[in-house]
Amino acid sequence: MWVALKGRLQITDRMMRWNNSINTECVMCNEESESCAHLFFGCRFSENVWRNLAGGLMPDMFTTDWSNLIRIVSKPWLTPIKTFLLRYTLQAAMHTIWCERNARRHGEDPKTMATLTQLVNKNIRLKLLAVKGKGNYLEEGLITWFETRLDL
Ligand SMILES: [Zn+2]
Repeated sequence: MWVALKGRLQITDRMMRWNNSINTECVMCNEESESCAHLFFGCRFSENVWRNLAGGLMPDMFTTDWSNLIRIVSKPWLTPIKTFLLRYTLQAAMHTIWCERNARRHGEDPKTMATLTQLVNKNIRLKLLAVKGKGNYLEEGLITWFETRLDL
């Protein structure tokens, strides 16, 4: 949990610094200017990735609004396992989208929304498999993760 929270804070911190730099066109959608709120997850590209990943975890309170998201993940509103999954998914989704954004800026071939979603999905499954010594936590986490997939 702390690792996920720490990761989220570090990314947020990096975003803030980056957000003060020159605003240019978003390399994900090529439609709007890039900002923290646009990239996470106002952009139709990252919004789609985020919806595929988190839509099933938070069906009643799904949001793409950055400040709403931070409010939701800051509180244990869901079950403990879903809170953990949501926080980890957010961190992993942000990391993956941020890497894709940088890759595109460096002229690399763009990955599709489906590929990015699969990357995060795989990352989370590996993370859950790596969590050990917490009773049935791992099993519950994996079951919850598969139950909340929208693309299966
Ligand atoms: Zn965009």
